[in-house]
Amino acid sequence: DGQVVIITGASSGVGLWAARALAERGWQVVMACRDLDRAARAADATGIDPERRRLMALDLADLDDVRRFAAAFDVPGARLDALVLNAAVYMPRLAAPLRSAQGYELSVATNYLGHFLLARLLLPLLGRAPAPRLVTLGTVTANSAEFGGRIPIPAPADLGDLSGFEAGFQAPVAMIDGKPFRPGKAYKDSKLACMIMSREFHRRHHAETGIVFSTLYPGCVADTPLFRHAPPAFRSIFPWFQKNVTGGYVAQPLAGERVADVVADPGFAASGVHWSWGNRQVAGRAAFSQPLSARGTDEARNRRLWDLTEKLVGLG
Ligand code: NDP
Repeated sequence: DGQVVIITGASSGVGLWAARALAERGWQVVMACRDLDRAARAADATGIDPERRRLMALDLADLDDVRRFAAAFDVPGARLDALVLNAAVYMPRLAAPLRSAQGYELSVATNYLGHFLLARLLLPLLGRAPAPRLVTLGTVTANSAEFGGRIPIPAPADLGDLSGFEAGFQAPVAMIDGKPFRPGKAYKDSKLACMIMSREFHRRHHAETGIVFSTLYPGCVADTPLFRHAPPAFRSIFPWFQKNVTGGYVAQPLAGERVADVVADPGFAASGVHWSWGNRQVAGRAAFSQPLSARGTDEARNRRLWDLTEKLVGLG
């Protein structure tokens, strides 16, 4: 009945296919993308009904643009039933950190800080929907309670004592833990921070707003453009390896359906949950909820992360 979902980074990969799946289920899909031409081409190529989609510009790497987007969306009469925090950058080969508009390390700024601000700004509107959900893309590599999260290449996600955030996260600081820059770990840290954020949203706001907060790992979607900065040999071997050795490979349309399930299906109405389909894909296997590792469940540290994040995005 005209339910509205915003999906960030819907111009490719998981977000694009989630947009298609939800449009097919009758939702109105707001594709929040940094490059609208690319997003329109991708939506056409994927066959997303133009009547069911709306393209809106959003650059998560600029907090001013996040504020502009939220203000442009949250106008009188606006409706928001679900928000999907999906966009991400992964740049494992950088020798030195890139910086966001506000001077923060770019992968944490895009994947985590931009999404934190966006969710906070849209929370009051979302909370007015009859059955609202806030869904965040996590990843197995950020969760050491799952096997995939224990693979120490290049290093497991670990936010340490948060001293990089404590110090203001501006150059030369490039990591949340304040240690020397490691680009692959910066991505994992950003995803762990997103998973902690979702837990904190649940703890702080579920009872009062009724919003269902969940994270999911859709499986290893090894052939999305996420890996565009990985070495060419990796990009050809990784999908093959995931298909034939680990069995973790998931095609983009199925990953999109899984996100759509977590957004729209009554079976996913529990809040404060991380959903996984496991590391080895088994046809027809149902999703199950998964514990977060000790690194994600240290409550005092998680509260501190929330407070420091508020300061960095200008809400403190
Ligand atoms: P893609 O690279 O295909 O998609 C990422 C999307 O994020 C693109 O639409 C990209 O836009 C967008 N984006 C990047 N930077 C910004 C920005 N500054 N502002 C707005 N949008 C931006 O990756 P995937 O589909 O693979 O990943 C989607 C999510 O799924 C991520 O959160 C990822 O961590 C997660 N995930 C992926 C897995 C996988 O195996 N692929 C496994 C587990 C989780 P543009 O087109 O302009 O570049």
